[in-house]
Amino acid sequence: MTIEKTLSIIKPDAVQNKHIGNIIKRFESNGLTIEKMMMKHLSQEEASEFYAIHKERPFFNDLIEFMTSGNVVIIVLSGENAVSKNRKLMGHTDPEQAEKGTIRSDFAKSIDANAVHGSDSLENAAIEIGFFFTSCCRR
Ligand code: ADP
Ligand code: MG
Repeated sequence: MTIEKTLSIIKPDAVQNKHIGNIIKRFESNGLTIEKMMMKHLSQEEASEFYAIHKERPFFNDLIEFMTSGNVVIIVLSGENAVSKNRKLMGHTDPEQAEKGTIRSDFAKSIDANAVHGSDSLENAAIEIGFFFTSCCRR
């Protein structure tokens, strides 16, 4: 059994639409445990650094504007195969292509406002968890 940790972010659209409880319910009822959680309004700098990997993409500016448009909920999840399990629960990046019953299919409306972020690998999960949680009191 491989117990992993991964990072989830409930994005501003899902917070605004009052889906925090629904999304956390999906995690908990599918064997994931909430290890850490905080609500935060990301600064431009934080969002740009977090999504630095996408900075050459055409949608980068819109992504940063959206991610800083309201509060997000940043969550460390743990559980068996947590990284891939979370990605499966999230569904496809584009809610219109997401499988029925996934978070993005049920709670998101568009590819840019798609309810949740989830780490895409164990390596990125460690980096992303460290970004928000490890260095005490910096952010
Ligand atoms: P995922 O969140 O599924 O891992 P990516 O890492 O590819 O997807 O992209 C990061 C985020 O950037 C997406 O969740 C989405 O909000 C946004 N995004 C990705 N592709 C597009 C696109 N073609 N148009 C607008 N926004 C996009
Ligand atoms: Mg991604």
